[in-house]
Amino acid sequence: MKQAFEAAVEGAETDGNALKGVALVREARDGISDHVRSGKEVVAFGNFEGTLEEASCPVCRPAPPPRLLFRTKHDIGFCQCAGCETIYASPRFDEPSLLEIYENENFKDLSFYENFSFENWERDRDRTWIVSNLKVQLVKKYLHDGDRVLDVGGGVGEFCAVAAKSDLRCESIDASKQLTDIGRRLFGARVQQAEVEDFDPGYKFKGIVIWDVLEHLYDPVRVLRNCYRLLEPGGYLFAQVPNSGGFTNKLKAFACRAGLSNNEFKHFGFPYHVYFFNRRSLTRLMAAADLEAIHFESWSRFMKDNKGGALTRAFDSVMRKNCLWDYVTVIARKGSS
Ligand SMILES: [Zn+2]
Repeated sequence: MKQAFEAAVEGAETDGNALKGVALVREARDGISDHVRSGKEVVAFGNFEGTLEEASCPVCRPAPPPRLLFRTKHDIGFCQCAGCETIYASPRFDEPSLLEIYENENFKDLSFYENFSFENWERDRDRTWIVSNLKVQLVKKYLHDGDRVLDVGGGVGEFCAVAAKSDLRCESIDASKQLTDIGRRLFGARVQQAEVEDFDPGYKFKGIVIWDVLEHLYDPVRVLRNCYRLLEPGGYLFAQVPNSGGFTNKLKAFACRAGLSNNEFKHFGFPYHVYFFNRRSLTRLMAAADLEAIHFESWSRFMKDNKGGALTRAFDSVMRKNCLWDYVTVIARKGSS
């Protein structure tokens, strides 16, 4: 699923026709009477249309009044919760509209997988291979050979395939039929089409990974509570999201707030990215699902191959230590009792 998300975001950013903007095309459409009857407004946004609604912090109940950071050129506000620092889009698409966007199966170039073989992928060591291996190395710091791992929103299942090679018993679920069909052909039955809310294999997992997914979800707390349900006592959850505390993300956000940029950069890639987290908000998000955040990792895809001289490595070390790269991974633990 995440590959499709990222591809869609890239496409939306580069396709001149894609983002006409809700402000330009706000109109109630004929033939969608449910929305009209409910008094909601159906809007077109690029290639998609749906119903917008005001949002509040997904973590704090009750949610404190938000602070508006800036409005995009498409009239979407990005607000920061005064309680937990979660940044969220408002208005955003309601849940049925958001699901419809992700059920659109025509926005992903899947030709990469047509002649895919694990052996060639391993030999070529492209970015996806390297990132999958970095993730497996991180997970193996906490888990042991033979432990069961579930990849939630695992797309085609590349992480799962690498984890299996590293002696973890990994399986992957994703809501996309198209991606999981490809995954089963490439990697076998360990890739399944399922929503985490409906998933119950009859056993629990020592680890759950959820890479680059939480920022897309209508209700991340609900999904994390289901992850909690599927974890063994003492099990670990690994979640990677864009880092609102990252150095360049902060600069870009400042440029948007100061009116120096009216561009929506990737991590505010509405309608796909509706949340933006940092260490503090991730800690609160995990606590809302009874998970305790115990460690954070921050890495950059630019450092993916660990190459570079002593100066580069020292710079990377400072950035990692202070969680300043543009992605952050939280490791959270379910209590033992
Ligand atoms: Zn909050």
